[in-house]
Amino acid sequence: MSAQSLSRFVEARLASLHKSLRHRELPKTGSGRETRKLVSFASNDYLGLSQHPDVVQASIDATRLHGAGAGASRLISGNHILYDELEQRLAALKETEDAVVFGSGYLCNIGVIPALVGRSDLICLDELSHSSLLTGGQLARSRVLEFRHNDSEYLGKLLGAHRKKHRHCLIVTEGVFSMDGDIAPLAELAALADSHDAWLMCDDAHGVGVVGGGRGAVFASEPAASLPLQMGTLSKAVGTYGGYLCASRSVCDYIRNRARSFIYSTGLPPGTVAAASKALEIIGRDRALCILPLERARQFTDIMEMPEAQSAIVPFLIGPSDAALEMSAALETAGFLVPAIRPPTVPLATARLRIAFRADHSEADVDNLAEAIRALGASA
Ligand SMILES: *Cc1c(COP(=O)(O)O)cnc(C)c1O
Repeated sequence: MSAQSLSRFVEARLASLHKSLRHRELPKTGSGRETRKLVSFASNDYLGLSQHPDVVQASIDATRLHGAGAGASRLISGNHILYDELEQRLAALKETEDAVVFGSGYLCNIGVIPALVGRSDLICLDELSHSSLLTGGQLARSRVLEFRHNDSEYLGKLLGAHRKKHRHCLIVTEGVFSMDGDIAPLAELAALADSHDAWLMCDDAHGVGVVGGGRGAVFASEPAASLPLQMGTLSKAVGTYGGYLCASRSVCDYIRNRARSFIYSTGLPPGTVAAASKALEIIGRDRALCILPLERARQFTDIMEMPEAQSAIVPFLIGPSDAALEMSAALETAGFLVPAIRPPTVPLATARLRIAFRADHSEADVDNLAEAIRALGASA
């Protein structure tokens, strides 16, 4: 009986997802070689480091030496010595005293936010923030107010009206926005945070390796913005897996003691830690590599007469979900993998193609994509 009511429940929900064009299926992704048939603009591996021979070799060597898994959480016995080097590299890249590596970026956000703020506190969140930041806010049980995307004036008004009613205040934004590719006005946000005694946290999942000379959105402005909480992922330009917070020594110490998703989740496999460390070494020294995704993105926005790309991500707005899906399917027929992103990932009626440029795209790949989009009769 109970199994029947469960299937009725999920089947009704699935039917409604299908009806609103929100049902999704897992696309088949083979090894890099098989997908080469399509030129992919769908990957966040902006520098191609997941395939870099030195990164792959570091993963193999550490796996051979230390095994396939960590065996326990980091506070018990899963804190492999390889973590030290990785966290030092992250802190050096971000110019912070220390860093804490989590199992993933998602785990980092849902652990860090509730560790820092609670019921009597306020969170001001950019309205386009990633799902993991919203979930972190919900778990914190703080009052959450969203501010208009990248609108520091609006945020100033919110803080003026509400900050004083709360004990602590956390301002949360992304560095490079994952579905729009634009960069937050971090210096302005940092000044506001200072004047209202609020803590600024920047999720730079899409900035590291790509903007600010590879060091992320905080370093994209002159002088670099100053903020106490720099979060990111090892799963995108770093080409591997995991998430991190770069902060002061005491904040990191506190997070290791208080973030539940850090304490109660198993450490990363040693091969992953070693590979991430190698990838960060490459990002730290190879400026020429880190420039390429942005150059390709700008080549595209130039040809399409769109506003100049600020990062490796270029949104091509379409509007209705069905039109975005059709466009994506037509591009696939033409040999390009370009995902359609639909609500609820993006706001209603802003379905789009999300084009992600990578260092290993050639200039000809970009020309060909622009030509294919034009041939389909779309203009930005
Ligand atoms: C991808 C992403 C995350 C999650 O990182 P994972 O390491 O993939 O879990 C968090 N925040 C933003 C903005 C992201 O784009």
